[in-house]
Amino acid sequence: MDFHTEVVVIGGGVTGTGIARDLTLRGIETILVEKGDLAAGATGRCHGLLHSGGRYAVKDPESARECVEENRILKKIASRNIEDTGGFFVRLPQDDRRYVDKFVTACDEVGIETEFMSLSAARKIEPNLTGNAREIIRVPDAAVDPFGLTIDNAADSEANGGRVMIHTEAVGIVVERSRVRTVLVRDKNTSETHRIRAKFVVNATGGWAGNVAALSGVHVPLSLFKGSLLIFNRRINNTIINRLRPPGDGDIIVPNEPTSIIGTTSIEVGDPEEFTVTREEVEMMLAEAALMLPPSVDARVIRAYAGIRPLLGSKGGAGGNEGGRDISRSFSVINHGVIDDVRGLVSVVGGKLTTYRLMAEKVVDLIAKELGVHIPCSTAERPILGSESGEFYKLGNRFDKIEILSRKKPEGIEEIICECELVTKKEILKVIEETGTTDLNDIQHRTRVGMGSCQGGFCTYRLLGILHELGMVSDYRANDILIRFLEERWRGIRPILRGDQLVEEQLMEGIYLGLFALDKVGKADGDDNAKVDKKDKKG
Ligand SMILES: Cc1cc2nc3c(=O)[nH]c(=O)nc-3n(C[C@H](O)[C@H](O)[C@H](O)COP(=O)(O)OP(=O)(O)OC[C@H]3O[C@@H](n4cnc5c(N)ncnc54)[C@H](O)[C@@H]3O)c2cc1C
Repeated sequence: MDFHTEVVVIGGGVTGTGIARDLTLRGIETILVEKGDLAAGATGRCHGLLHSGGRYAVKDPESARECVEENRILKKIASRNIEDTGGFFVRLPQDDRRYVDKFVTACDEVGIETEFMSLSAARKIEPNLTGNAREIIRVPDAAVDPFGLTIDNAADSEANGGRVMIHTEAVGIVVERSRVRTVLVRDKNTSETHRIRAKFVVNATGGWAGNVAALSGVHVPLSLFKGSLLIFNRRINNTIINRLRPPGDGDIIVPNEPTSIIGTTSIEVGDPEEFTVTREEVEMMLAEAALMLPPSVDARVIRAYAGIRPLLGSKGGAGGNEGGRDISRSFSVINHGVIDDVRGLVSVVGGKLTTYRLMAEKVVDLIAKELGVHIPCSTAERPILGSESGEFYKLGNRFDKIEILSRKKPEGIEEIICECELVTKKEILKVIEETGTTDLNDIQHRTRVGMGSCQGGFCTYRLLGILHELGMVSDYRANDILIRFLEERWRGIRPILRGDQLVEEQLMEGIYLGLFALDKVGKADGDDNAKVDKKDKKG
């Protein structure tokens, strides 16, 4: 099939969807293609911290200034995806006292509000904070839901006439007479290839930006750094806890819905899909968490995951000795028409989730100018679809919603599919109806089903039961999806198998191997599932 548009955006992370929204708000025709689901890359694998800029104030003031300004804007325009937790920078006895003054001065210079707090005042807000804290400085950090933010940006773009094609990979970029003309994309569900003719192509593919640029014959020099994170089974902090020292490993703990997340590390890798978390990273982060929040020692770690930070600079050369922490976290918009004589191609790399809106604004300013569009950017003032009320997300919102809905219903409580995250059957049915998807990740990203403390152990088979009941997956497909889900789940659990998590995994093994016999499914010749598979393939 052939499509025509003005701009193709490649990449459905927060940057790509932010660009698509900005383009459509300025009346520019847009198609966004994403090879997986929205937020499948670094966006869905990040820490979920809406930076105040404090982390970068001393060493990278440009990035800090961008963060503090965007922090204020996002709190206004994306409120429903933000929990306004506030943040503490905490100095421990082993941290250099002289950094405190540097930090406060640097924050002042870029406009970040800081407030010294006594231990007793801080502990009223954060009772789990270590008694060893020597200085505690409050900053306007917040927690942000990267999935919700990305999905809302995409929905806003669609509401304004944009088109969003997920599970659609850009596999070729046709350049003729030094100008991009067409993007070839492959639908990963049907394996069909489509052509999208366009005047501009935006490469917003994060860690894959080098690979996508290469499709048009140009080079984007990137260094890739893996950052690993751990999720605790319960919320051990209510504010963001940062270590008051130069940025290092395992020095931020972010509350995330009913859990807390510690991270990160920063290790140079060669592949944008190198997501392996090592035991050493796990041990190091647990030790760091215990210093700031001692109750973390008794919390169960339920998952380890990693994301890739693409930083501009050639591989190996830009990393320095600090795991890339000496490279600016600001961003670059590359106009390949000027640099490589490939007109119409723009790459955007670096930056933070916190600064995605600004990155989008800069990219769209460039394109609008070349297209002769004079409508100014409105994304700094205009709330994203769903955030019009300006109300922040609060932990407990889901519970309240379910209770209110249940009180209104004579038959009582809503049917809950995921107890950890309080996701109802109704919410799941709505996503399935709206998207037509049978992909567990798509449903998870839109509802949070399976993201809580059992990591989908108890709700995934219920979810597949719903899809099967609706006739959307055959027996064999359901089993196949379940096996692939468990394999992926195992990748996240393997590095953290210790203590109580071992007991939890034994229970899961009992369910999936003992009760469901999943290790035997579809393997024996002529069994029912294999027969259904053959039927499926013919049909
Ligand atoms: C470990 C870690 C923790 C972080 N924590 C924070 C934080 O707490 N706060 C913060 O502000 N920032 C944080 N960041 C940075 C933040 O995650 C990124 O800046 C941001 O998510 C980048 O978004 P993006 O859309 O540019 O890239 P991505 O989210 O990586 O999106 C790129 C997309 O392109 C898609 N794609 C690739 N190739 C193709 C193709 N050929 N066709 C179609 N689609 C394609 C990918 O599937 C992917 O979805 C963190 C980063 C990491 C790695």
